[in-house]
Amino acid sequence: MNILIMGPAGAGKGTMSDKIVEEFNIPHISSGDMFRAEISGKTELGLTAQAYINQGLLVPDEVTIEMVKRRLTKDDCKKGYLLDGFPRTLAQAEALEKMTREVGIPLQAIICLEVEFDELAKRITGRRICKHCNEIYNVYFKPSSTEGICDVCGNELFQRSDDTVERLKVRLQEYENQTVPVLEYFKNAGLAKKINAGQPIDEVWKEVKKALEEIND
Ligand code: AMP
Repeated sequence: MNILIMGPAGAGKGTMSDKIVEEFNIPHISSGDMFRAEISGKTELGLTAQAYINQGLLVPDEVTIEMVKRRLTKDDCKKGYLLDGFPRTLAQAEALEKMTREVGIPLQAIICLEVEFDELAKRITGRRICKHCNEIYNVYFKPSSTEGICDVCGNELFQRSDDTVERLKVRLQEYENQTVPVLEYFKNAGLAKKINAGQPIDEVWKEVKKALEEIND
């Protein structure tokens, strides 16, 4: 199954991605996670990306496309893949179409998660992540039992530097400007599946699973 998940920051792409990977056993390719790994590894690519990410801006296309292309041409993607956070621009969408066609793994569907701004703001600014095991909490919806400490492994929680209201506004503006045209591109190709992601997680998952099972029919 070759799929892509889309939605603004805080729409629940991470949560739904975990469920999709578990259910359909395909690799999860998140451009944001890949950039964060490069930043932690202090690579040249990481240093370039960091300047943009810290401002809530998109990393330039040529850097991003090359990084994802290297990942998508690995053998494990032959059995399918879940792309997350890529493509975010029309140039990336076109590059993706070309590279997946060349490798023989064309996209089959796009899951589009849709959520209102106020809900997104709470999800984003309340998000806390464990430094050690990456468990995700939210101070409004799913607080840890002791503030700032992970329930699972007891390590410290942190807030991503781009998870503030100011950065969220920039990220949503970037989403509006750059990514909405990508959504239109996929809608025109008849691949987009719209999901109401403002509901509780279980309800969102039901809708996502149903949409994906339809591709397999
Ligand atoms: P995410 O975790 O997907 O929200 O990504 C975090 C940040 O990484 C974004 O705000 C961008 O700065 C950068 N980023 C991730 N994916 C892309 C992409 N496809 N194109 C450009 N920048 C990206």
